[in-house]
Amino acid sequence: MTTLLETLTKGTAYLENKGVDSPRLTMELMVAHSLKMQRMQLYLEFERPLTDEELAPLRAMLKRRGEREPLQHILGSVEFYRRDFICDARALIPRPETEELVAHILKLKLPENPKILDLCTGSGVIGLSLKGELPSAQVTLADISSEALALAQENTNELQLEVEIIESDLFQNIDAAYDLIVCNPPYVSSNFSVEAEVAHDPGIALFSGEDGLDFIRDFVPQALTHLKPSGYVALEIGFDQAEAVSALLRQENYTHVEVKSDMEGVPRFPIARNPL
Ligand code: GLN
Repeated sequence: MTTLLETLTKGTAYLENKGVDSPRLTMELMVAHSLKMQRMQLYLEFERPLTDEELAPLRAMLKRRGEREPLQHILGSVEFYRRDFICDARALIPRPETEELVAHILKLKLPENPKILDLCTGSGVIGLSLKGELPSAQVTLADISSEALALAQENTNELQLEVEIIESDLFQNIDAAYDLIVCNPPYVSSNFSVEAEVAHDPGIALFSGEDGLDFIRDFVPQALTHLKPSGYVALEIGFDQAEAVSALLRQENYTHVEVKSDMEGVPRFPIARNPL
């Protein structure tokens, strides 16, 4: 017979041995998920014996995490800006810094019923969070990947939000003009070798040419033609791209160009406005 505490301890040691980050927390999250309990509840039931039926799925999860499959894919969900989103390999796993992009956008002076486009929406986390926080906004989610959009649609249904969803390579199928275009594009250099977990993200969501800027070079001039007067663009970019992206924005005559830093002090979020 194995108790819950023994399972936690053994699983933690296994993950530690495999070089997995935060092994104890990971194990607690997997046990809680598997037993459909809150993580904190585990602490009240350390002596509870686990049946073979309870242990079998847990062993399978442990094996997957030991092989460096991301925890978010194993749990099938991720928390982003206070909401739970379905998460799988169809789109990029939402990163914590992207929540900061949402927070910066919510501080902008947007008009009453803002029209918002989330381009490269992936699982939909940015656009759906904005719709959740700004119910009067008209939000469009767009992506080149039909798989990502299927996931974004599932998240939309789950959260019971109303948004428009458009499959589009950049602005190809986008006609409207927006008060805000937000975009967390692929921005990683194609020469960069990513960690084992990151390799589970779709490459199309990560990589964009030698310097990682191919997408943004196309995006910056095109976005301008889809902004209402004084409309905003807000982007997430790589740790070393602030100067290059600011220069691109100024070159196209955007105004109020600034790059907000993330919690680690990395200039991460360029925000700029349509000069017209
Ligand atoms: N920040 C992500 C990473 O470093 C990249 C996300 C993106 O390209 N939009 O893995």
